[in-house]
Amino acid sequence: MMQPKSSCPTWIGYTGDYISEEDIINVARKHALKNALDYGTAKAGPVISKVFAEIPDSKKDRAKTAELVNSIVEWVNGLSRSEVELEVSKYTFPEKKQREGLPDLQWVTAGMHVNTRFAPNPSGFLHIGHAKVAILCDEYAKKYSGKFYVRLEDTDPKTKKPILKAYTSIVEDVEWLGCNIAEVIKQSDRMELYYSYAEKLIESGMAYVCTCDKETMHSNRLNGIECKCRSLDAKENMERWKKMMSSYKEGEAVLRLKTDMSHSNVSVRDWVMFRIIDEEHPLTKDKYRVWPLYNFAAAIDDHELGINLVIRGKEHEINQMKQEYVFKDFGWEKPHILEVGVLKVKGEMAHKSDIRRAIAEGRLSGWDDPRAPTIMGFRNRGIKPEAIRKYVIGSGIGKNDSYLDMQKLSAIGRALEHHPKEDVEA
Ligand SMILES: [Zn+2]
Repeated sequence: MMQPKSSCPTWIGYTGDYISEEDIINVARKHALKNALDYGTAKAGPVISKVFAEIPDSKKDRAKTAELVNSIVEWVNGLSRSEVELEVSKYTFPEKKQREGLPDLQWVTAGMHVNTRFAPNPSGFLHIGHAKVAILCDEYAKKYSGKFYVRLEDTDPKTKKPILKAYTSIVEDVEWLGCNIAEVIKQSDRMELYYSYAEKLIESGMAYVCTCDKETMHSNRLNGIECKCRSLDAKENMERWKKMMSSYKEGEAVLRLKTDMSHSNVSVRDWVMFRIIDEEHPLTKDKYRVWPLYNFAAAIDDHELGINLVIRGKEHEINQMKQEYVFKDFGWEKPHILEVGVLKVKGEMAHKSDIRRAIAEGRLSGWDDPRAPTIMGFRNRGIKPEAIRKYVIGSGIGKNDSYLDMQKLSAIGRALEHHPKEDVEA
């Protein structure tokens, strides 16, 4: 039964004609070689299983099959690495199906939909970092048959003054990236909604209008001291709230949420929900002067839109802490948070302000200049949205920041051109 090491066993001890000897030797050889290639040494057990699976009749005489496989495994293990490689190359193996798409979310139960939102400020244009968050949000909504919203956070007409063109360009960019937008929400359309929730908090004594000057309040918060406004009753606070709408001047009064004046993070202590801004808004003009801050409007909208997954960068950790108070006060269920690393670009165009300066100095023709790391720039550079999606999804959801690897992105783009039918939606 011993076989010469120089050639593969050809002996077979089966009786009867129920099995093709050639087939079984071929199958055993193929898997023994592959096993040796993958693990250094071939093992009989896994090879026998493969033979049983591919040729069920081989199970009719298990002892004989095992004996045959053992002798083939022994032969394979006597080959050198290069001989194994040469022998393996004579066979074709089905490609192991690569796990595509994003990892499952552990908290999602059967039949649950995942709703997400991408919430940029229309005071500028989208860059490649935004693309990552938008694609991840869209992809999870698709994966769990939920809704993906684009929410334009435009409630700061002064320091983040909205640009009219940005409202349309953001939506165009997100659509170009292949995202399926359920609805575009403009926060400046929802002011009455924010007011009504603010009034509920005032009525229940959870929010108060603070008229202390900046310095006093700064020192109070730093030292954990409650100001006199904090203990005023709801009726008085409601009157002061109405005065914010009419008579108080900008900077004279703000609406604060009662949080915890001894919170370990000073900025969380009774944070500001609303302030007065006497500046014309490009859409609502002078209709409103009391504007919600980001954290209040975002919390209300996340609840109202049924967002149950928020994908955000590490820089929003404190904002999340602040927003949790709103959810707690209203008794709402908090969305799940997925913290992801930021996708950055290297070089002199790393920040929005760099791009802005380059445009001002004439080094770039505009936000859509192909040299700009904006979505519009990438589009004009001829980069395909499918490549960006594949890059982002393939990079996964790690917490570490990363730099855009242009070579990798281009390689994905070229591969897509050669295999245009490939399903890049994963
Ligand atoms: Zn005060």
